[in-house]
Amino acid sequence: MIKFLDLKAINHDLRNELLVACARVIDSGWYIGGAELHRFEQEFAEYCGVKHCVGVANGLDALSLTLRAWKELGRLQDGDEVIVPANTYIASVLAITENGLVPVLVEPDPATYNLNVNNIEQAITPRTKVLLPVHLYGLLADMPALLSIAKKHGLLVLEDSAQSHGASHKGRKAGAWGDASGFSFYPGKNLGALGDAGAITTNDEELAQVLRALRNYGSHEKYQNLYRGVNSRLDELQAAVLSVKLKYLDAQVTQRREIVQTYLQGIKNTQIVLPLSAGTRVMAFEEHVWHLFVIRTAHREALQKHLQGLGVQTLIHYPIPIHKQKAYAEISELSLPITEAIHEEVLSLPLGPTLTLEEAQKVVSACNSFSIGSC
Ligand SMILES: *Cc1c(COP(=O)(O)O)cnc(C)c1O
Repeated sequence: MIKFLDLKAINHDLRNELLVACARVIDSGWYIGGAELHRFEQEFAEYCGVKHCVGVANGLDALSLTLRAWKELGRLQDGDEVIVPANTYIASVLAITENGLVPVLVEPDPATYNLNVNNIEQAITPRTKVLLPVHLYGLLADMPALLSIAKKHGLLVLEDSAQSHGASHKGRKAGAWGDASGFSFYPGKNLGALGDAGAITTNDEELAQVLRALRNYGSHEKYQNLYRGVNSRLDELQAAVLSVKLKYLDAQVTQRREIVQTYLQGIKNTQIVLPLSAGTRVMAFEEHVWHLFVIRTAHREALQKHLQGLGVQTLIHYPIPIHKQKAYAEISELSLPITEAIHEEVLSLPLGPTLTLEEAQKVVSACNSFSIGSC
């Protein structure tokens, strides 16, 4: 079976180096908020090209605590509206509603799956305060256009970079475009810890200060609490693991790109719509970090079964749109036809740095041998 993502193999390749890092933490006697966290925060800020990185417990908290910090700083208030793509992972929207803010779901561009910038201005109201673009599947949203809309309307920009570590446009990376950016280091992300972890990147010193307190019970100094904070810390063990894995991130993205080239050149089946196939910005291939290789087909169930039968594991990102989730029943009547069509048709093929080119060829053949009624 060709696995969708072989996490065991990915981490096995770095096993010795990871063990050394873990041993260093064990032997240090210091497990929260120490030298490892400090070092990883500096390394990741430098990698993204920003001044500050604040480690937190996971990607959801990275987004949620940033919105919370803007409330503490008086830049946002309860009931303010946040524009977010309708076809994102639910965490992007949970971060908004968790803070008493209102998500305004906007349709994506079906060529990139990212926020369609032509749909943003009509969604702006006097209560709109934040744009929350998601760099979905590893490709940056159209940030130059987004930033100019934000500037024109005086909006804050929070990037959801959970799927896009290292993605760039004209040399400027995910995490370095918005007023702040949330990252996840969930094990399956392109930069993954051995457990949960996340971080915020920003050039805003004041914001970084508030975030450092919020993640730690609202406190900079022990037993002095400025805010009603939370416990959302990136621990020393995960920070040490992430420092090791960050060194290999770019090389692993290159390996992902080779698999993707094999797919893009090899898959020739009129039932399958490949990524970047319609009107996508020039150069997107090299700017894309390919967290996921997502195809579309009107015959998803049959294709998934066909691939499964040939030993190819696939997943669906994501099967149910947010406005159709029980948790958001109050917005279930929204009309979002592009988002709904995407959720019915997408399928993610195997992709990861340890997938071999032979395996990729097998995936290509399996896709090419699919026809309606073939299973
Ligand atoms: C994974 C992910 C998150 C949440 O990250 P966690 O670390 O799992 O909390 C947020 N947004 C997007 C787009 C994601 O893919």
